[in-house]
Amino acid sequence: MTSIPAFRYHPDPIATGSAVADGGACELCGEVTGARYAGPILGRQAERLCLGCIADGTAAERLGRPDGSAEFSDGLRRQSDSLPSAVLEEILRRTPGYFSWQESYWLTHCGDGAAYLGRTGWDQIKDDDEALKALRDEAQELGMDTAAAQEWISRLSPDGDMTAYLFECLHCGVHLAYSDAN
Ligand SMILES: [Zn+2]
Ligand SMILES: [Zn+2]
Repeated sequence: MTSIPAFRYHPDPIATGSAVADGGACELCGEVTGARYAGPILGRQAERLCLGCIADGTAAERLGRPDGSAEFSDGLRRQSDSLPSAVLEEILRRTPGYFSWQESYWLTHCGDGAAYLGRTGWDQIKDDDEALKALRDEAQELGMDTAAAQEWISRLSPDGDMTAYLFECLHCGVHLAYSDAN
């Protein structure tokens, strides 16, 4: 049986692809948990790392380099203004990250980090007004007009070269998203 710890900010890492089924033993703790981490490690690499070792901070500590703990998300340090430091530490060091092409973000709402739900695309969110609004706002900030934004959003897909990452606020439930391209 696969045992997946509860991650506040990444509730289903198997569904998002940040963990995969694996029958081997974790390199750090030796446990056979049925799954291994499959996301980015900013630190020393481990071929087979269980999610329990991420959840309890063992992986951050033991895969760290002399200059600091290992982290599992890139680029988030720039977001430190929008996240309480305890939340930032939990997301960076005790939460499975996810691969992205450009620097990743962890979207925030109601003063907290949001829950990462995975990659998404037009077919999945065409009726999701909240996610669409977030993507339209992002496109506008990038200088796209309404038609260009719609064209861009309609080409997003979960497994293509243009994708979006979907989040949900843990407090008010609003859907949030941002896009990425290879
Ligand atoms: Zn382990
Ligand atoms: Zn909220």
